[in-house]
Amino acid sequence: MAETDSRPTNFIRQIIDNDLKSGLHTVVQTRFPPEPNGYLHIGHAKSICLNFGIAQDYAGYCNLRFDDTNPEKEDIDYVNAIQQDVSWLGFNWHGKVRYSSDYFSQLHAYAVELISKGLAYVDFSTPEEVRQLRGSLKAPGQNSPYRDTPIEENLACFEKMKNGEYQEGQCLLRAKIDMSSPFMCMRDPALYRVKYAHHHQTGDTWCIYPMYDFTHCISDAIEGITHSLCTLEFQDNRRLYDWVISNITIEATPHQYEFSRLNLEYTVLSKRKLIQLVEESHVAGWDDPRMPTIAGLRRRGFSASSIVEFCKRIGVTKMDNLVEMSMLNACIREELNESAPRAMAVLDPVKVVIENYPTDKVETLFAHNHPNDESMGSRDIPFSREIFIEAEDFREEANKKFKRLVLGKEVRLRNAYVIKAERIEKDVDGNVICIYCSFDEQTLGKDPADGRKVKGVIHWVSAAHGIKAQVNLYDNLFSVANPAAEDNFLATLNPESLIVKQAVVEPSLKSAHIGQSLQFERMGYFSLDKSSSADNLVFNRTVGLRDSWTNTDQN
Ligand code: ATP
Ligand code: MG
Repeated sequence: MAETDSRPTNFIRQIIDNDLKSGLHTVVQTRFPPEPNGYLHIGHAKSICLNFGIAQDYAGYCNLRFDDTNPEKEDIDYVNAIQQDVSWLGFNWHGKVRYSSDYFSQLHAYAVELISKGLAYVDFSTPEEVRQLRGSLKAPGQNSPYRDTPIEENLACFEKMKNGEYQEGQCLLRAKIDMSSPFMCMRDPALYRVKYAHHHQTGDTWCIYPMYDFTHCISDAIEGITHSLCTLEFQDNRRLYDWVISNITIEATPHQYEFSRLNLEYTVLSKRKLIQLVEESHVAGWDDPRMPTIAGLRRRGFSASSIVEFCKRIGVTKMDNLVEMSMLNACIREELNESAPRAMAVLDPVKVVIENYPTDKVETLFAHNHPNDESMGSRDIPFSREIFIEAEDFREEANKKFKRLVLGKEVRLRNAYVIKAERIEKDVDGNVICIYCSFDEQTLGKDPADGRKVKGVIHWVSAAHGIKAQVNLYDNLFSVANPAAEDNFLATLNPESLIVKQAVVEPSLKSAHIGQSLQFERMGYFSLDKSSSADNLVFNRTVGLRDSWTNTDQN
C-alpha cells in the first residue's frame, strides 16, 4: 500500500489541501501550544498527533511553544515533563523550543501600537465594575468611563503599568472593540494585567503579563504559523484572534481552526481536576498508572505507538463526544498481543503437591515465548513436585463449563503435564491451602495415551523456583462514565481502582527490564514498574486479555 493511503483524512486536512492547491500557502506550519501548568494527558495527545502529524505528512513544520503567560500557575518541572512526553510520543519539534514569553517585548510593542491607534485603553475600574459593565449573553455591556481617555494618557498609564507603579487588580489594558457585541470576548477584552510574579523564563523582568487571546495570535504570526488548531471552546475567540492580527502591523495572517476536544469515559481530562487528584493525594502522582496522563499511561505499560494509533482511530471532527475506554484499551491490547512475550505468573497462589513426582527431581521444561512468532524464541521453565496455581483455578465441585482443576478430575498444566486433584487440605476457616495431585508422566506435550479427554489448561509456577512479585491490578479511576458531569467528581472515585497482589512469577522474569511488557498467560498484559528492583519485582497490569477483567475458561 502506498504510504499516503494510510494518512488520516479530516476536515482540517481538507482545508490544508485546498490552501496548498490554491497557492495560499506553500509550506504548512503548525504548533502545539501547551501551558506548562500540568502534565500532558491523552487529550493533548490528540492535539499533538494532529499538529505534528500534519507537519510530517505535508513535509511542513510543527513548533513546540509553551504558552506561558500565567507565571503563578506554571513551573519549570512541567516544561521539562511536557518536552519529554512529546519526544516519547515520537515527535520532533521544529528548531528550538519556543515560549510565548520569548515575545514579551514584541507583544508589548504591539500593545503600544494598539493604544496609539486608539484601539486600546487602560481601565482603572474595579474588577467588580468591569464585570457589571460587561453585560450578559442577554444584555449588551456598557462602556467603561475610561474608554475615551486620550491616547497620550493611555500611553503614559500603560508605561506606568509596565514600570510597576500600580497594584495588582488596580488596572487593565483593554482592547477597544464593541461593548454590545453578541460575542462576550469582543466586549473590550483584557489584553494585559498587572502581576508581580516571578516567571520561570523571564524572571522578574515583567510585572505586566499579556492575556492568552492577545498572546496566542501574535505568537502564531511571529512564528509564521499557517494553521492554528485549537479546541472548540475557542470558536468565539476566533473573532478576537482575527481582530488583533488585522489591527497590528504584522505580515503573516495565521488562521485558527477548531476541532472537538477528546473526552474519555471513566476519567477526567481537565487539568484543574487532574491537579486536584495529585495535590489531594487521590492518586500517587502525575504518573500514577491510573491517571490519563501520558506519563501515567506510559507507566501503566502503554506504548507510544498505541497512543498514536488511538488518536488515529478517534479521528478529528467538530462533534463533541465521550470516547469509550475500551477503544484505548483495544489499541494497546492488539499491539501487545503481537509483541509481548508470554510468561506464567500466579497472582493468587495456592500450593499443589504432586505426590507421585519424585521429591528431589527438577525438570527443565521448554516454552515458546510467543504462540505465533517463533522468532521470539523460547525459554526454560523449571518443574518440580510442588507448584503454585491460581486459587480461582480450583474448585471442589463444578459443572462442565468450569474447564480448570476440580477435585477428582484432570487438567493440563500449561507447557507441562496433566495432573489430577486427589484430595485437599483446608485451614480452620475452610480455605483450601493445599491440593494434593497425581500426574501422568506420559502427557508431556501429548494427550493421554488411552484417549482420555482433558479440556482445560491452567498456568502454574514451580514453588521452589518461582519468585515473589508485587502485581498491581488497575481498574477505572472513576466508577461513572462521565465524572466531570457530577457535582463532586471526587465522590465517584472508584475505591477498587488499584488492587495489589502478592504474586509468584516464573524465574525467567528476573531478567525483565523496567518498562518491558509481557503477557502473563490468561491474566493479561503487564509492564515492569519503575519502582522495581532485582529482589522486589513490581508489575503493573496494563490491560486484561479481553475487555472485561474476568478470567474466563478460555486460555
Ligand atoms: P486547561 O484544562 O487548563 O484549560 P488545556 O487543556 O487547554 O488547559 P493546554 O495546555 O492549553 O491545556 O493545551 C494545549 C493544547 O492541547 C491546546 O491546543 C488544547 O486545545 C489541546 N487540548 C487540551 N485538551 C485537549 C483535549 N481534551 N482534546 C484535544 N485537545 C486538547
Ligand atoms: Mg488552554
